[in-house]
Amino acid sequence: MLSVSTLHGRQRLFFETGATKPLQYRLDQLSKLKDMIKRSEDSIIEALRQDLGKSDFEAYATEIGILLEEINHVSKNLRRWSKPQRVRTPITHFGSKSRIYAEPYGVTLIIAPWNYPFQLALAPLIGAISAGNCAILKPSELAPHTSALLARLLSATFDDHYIAVVEGGVETSNELLAVDFDKIFFTGSVNVGRMVMEAAAKHLTPVTLELGGKSPCIVHEDANLKHAAKRIVWGKFLNAGQTCIAPDYLYVHESVKEQLVEQMKVFVADFFKDPLAADSGYAKIINEKHFNRLLGLMKSGHLIYGGQTDESAHRIAPAFLDAVNWDEPVMQEEIFGPILPILSYGDLGEAIREINARPKPLALYVFSESKNVQRRVIDSVSFGGGCINDTIMHIASPYLPFGGVGESGMGGYHGKGSFDAFSHRKSVLKQTSRFDLPFRYPNAKNALKRL
Ligand code: NAD
Repeated sequence: MLSVSTLHGRQRLFFETGATKPLQYRLDQLSKLKDMIKRSEDSIIEALRQDLGKSDFEAYATEIGILLEEINHVSKNLRRWSKPQRVRTPITHFGSKSRIYAEPYGVTLIIAPWNYPFQLALAPLIGAISAGNCAILKPSELAPHTSALLARLLSATFDDHYIAVVEGGVETSNELLAVDFDKIFFTGSVNVGRMVMEAAAKHLTPVTLELGGKSPCIVHEDANLKHAAKRIVWGKFLNAGQTCIAPDYLYVHESVKEQLVEQMKVFVADFFKDPLAADSGYAKIINEKHFNRLLGLMKSGHLIYGGQTDESAHRIAPAFLDAVNWDEPVMQEEIFGPILPILSYGDLGEAIREINARPKPLALYVFSESKNVQRRVIDSVSFGGGCINDTIMHIASPYLPFGGVGESGMGGYHGKGSFDAFSHRKSVLKQTSRFDLPFRYPNAKNALKRL
């Protein structure tokens, strides 16, 4: 195994040859990546089953299918995105033309988390390739089967002077972060995001930080409760709640709380017949540490539904917590598991004030049939992105850039957003040589004078 600095040096040399820049080269690499994924579907599903107990359906929908769609979308549009963009030129620059060129940063670093360990490693890589960069990818050590698979597949598909995987934990991550990369793309927790930014500051390396936090789900009194219940249960318990944009807590109008909770119970029972069974289609908790952390959080408030556990299999059934207040542990940290605290409000303004008193969420969901309520929430809360009358689905559109704001992250990606995240926009003014206007020069006869 090559050392991090040797690998980085090899990639720098390869990047400097210019080989990664031509459009056709980038399209060919995206196509290789797509073939690699399609050929390996069975092993990907198996690795995800071992690491997280994901069902075949969930693994395909949230980790494989989404990547194939993204590659298709990027490949289809790349020629257009890569063209120098002509922009207007002010009259003061008469005779010249203005263009913006997208150029790759160079050698980039991608650090990925464990919860969607395949997808969240390769989605940024699609951006890196499409913009013409080299990349070193560090998958999460907490999803070891997927990490090993990524290393094996990518090294069989690409030369390591172009794309390489470095496996490891915190120490490896820090070794990588000490190197002078041209761009760092990090997905993970808020605290580690801070460390990444600090390390990047030493080299003034630009960063994209895809972080986490508590994403509220507001259900107003006029919501379609049946649809709301179904879509919340799906979004919350997908991957057993280990989703960065899962509704973290429910914030429901007090007049419809009971009805909503009853409906949600129906859908939990319908979706996951026996959530503790290995073949339930419901994921397990990644490891013992997180399992125990979640058991601790379940002590907040009052458990009104579910929450059965199987310690040896790291499984926790969907759990609803009532009578929770903001000071309890479950409301102090991102839950990242299948526990849904239920808070209620009487006045929407009060709910908005509570949310705004906390760090800016990565996602926010609002269920209401009223356009005024929808607009009021969207206009008065700052959050990364979200849905009206749905959960999670905004992440799966290549037309919607995905990312956080404030503590939930900076910068976005997906679709053109991924190309942009890995490109520098180089502005160039091209002046004419046919004439030379005298106004700007000192002592010129017709120099611009103050009136
Ligand atoms: P994490 O921050 O613990 O780890 C992420 C990556 O950073 C891993 O590769 C890990 O090896 C590395 N790392 C961990 N500690 C480090 C340290 N001290 N120094 C340097 N590198 C370190 O995050 P996680 O537990 O893997 O993932 C869960 C978090 O990620 C949650 O907060 C979740 O909301 C967030 N997340 C965000 C998104 C998003 O798109 N915004 C997606 C998935 C997960």
